[in-house]
Amino acid sequence: MSHLMNTYARLPVSFVRGEGVWLWDGQGKRYLDAVAGLAVNTLGHAHPRLVKALSEQVRMLIHTSNLYQVQKQEELAARLAALASMDKVFFCNSGAEANEAAIKLARLYGHQKGIDNPTIIVMEKSFHGRTMATLSATGSRRVQAGFEPLMGGFARVPYNDVDAVTQVAGHNKNIVAVLVEPIQGEAGIRVPLPLPDYFQALRRICDEQGWLLMLDEVQSGIGRTGKWFAHQHSGIKPDVMTLAKGLGSGVPIGACLAAGTAADAFKPGSHGSTFGGNPLACVAALTTLAVIEEENLMTHAVKLGDFIRNGLAQALTGVKDVVQIRGMGLMIGIELAQPCGDIVELALEQGLLINVTAENVVRLLPALIMQQTEAQKLIDGLSGLIREFSRQAAPANARA
Ligand SMILES: *Cc1c(COP(=O)(O)O)cnc(C)c1O
Repeated sequence: MSHLMNTYARLPVSFVRGEGVWLWDGQGKRYLDAVAGLAVNTLGHAHPRLVKALSEQVRMLIHTSNLYQVQKQEELAARLAALASMDKVFFCNSGAEANEAAIKLARLYGHQKGIDNPTIIVMEKSFHGRTMATLSATGSRRVQAGFEPLMGGFARVPYNDVDAVTQVAGHNKNIVAVLVEPIQGEAGIRVPLPLPDYFQALRRICDEQGWLLMLDEVQSGIGRTGKWFAHQHSGIKPDVMTLAKGLGSGVPIGACLAAGTAADAFKPGSHGSTFGGNPLACVAALTTLAVIEEENLMTHAVKLGDFIRNGLAQALTGVKDVVQIRGMGLMIGIELAQPCGDIVELALEQGLLINVTAENVVRLLPALIMQQTEAQKLIDGLSGLIREFSRQAAPANARA
């Protein structure tokens, strides 16, 4: 009997070692990893540069405390601020925590403007985390059910709907911010189209209203879509941005960035984190960013993403169950006409690690270091599985 709380429906496999995009289980079976720890292992497994940098840092210093100056934190903050053209950074340990920081920042910003009941616009089908504030912000009943009372202070609108946001602006004087994912990950890799128009419109409304535009780039950030941050495809700048998943290539680290007035809202005592931004986590992030830049992994992510989408589209021609193949760079979704969670275990048997989200979307989030030959193996394996699944499963129109 396991003594772990029953929070995950885990697959019947456990890995003992990894290298690049490959993982090995205890029996020596090899798996092609197209999930990368859910967009976490940016540099794949056991990247030599990361192993070296982390080993050196472990020997030197793992953790002190935010009671003291942390040089690596200063370096990482400067680097992130430069990459995002933003001003200040708060470090924490996860995506939920980064969004908690953003939510607290927005409330403080509201109070400082004399709004006593600050409210944040959030989106339908969004995902922002599992803490009380972030699950309240999340647009999914599955995430919220059983945890009521939910936290107040959120107003929900449909994603990719500018008019809905304008309408709220017309009647709710308590709004202080909009919190939105550039690409909705958990919802099934939903890309607002056209992406620049949506975010430029949100930027304009936020400027007019004096609201903070807060982007949750926890999944879409760190080079995955071909830019450091997905919003950079739209040419706008947010006031607040959150990062986590891919930032430390597997070492837990989250960040909340801010620009302008929002950057100065927190004062000593406003917010904090014991582990946040310790030297080990910061070195993991600094190394991740350095390798992405030096090895041109963002250009590579765009090319490889196109290669995978085109390859899948070709290999899946005529398969009626395939509704759409979409995404940006290495954030890829294949929407099927019916729930397809079972495909994950079929893939596992064949030594392929994929994920299914929103019930009917196969999600691929491979490491940025995946090579084209490996991507071809992924295309071949996955297209075969989807064909087989689609042949065996009841036709979508025959289901209740
Ligand atoms: C995963 C995710 C989170 C939550 O991150 P955790 O590290 O699990 O707390 C928040 N927002 C988005 C967009 C995510 O994909």
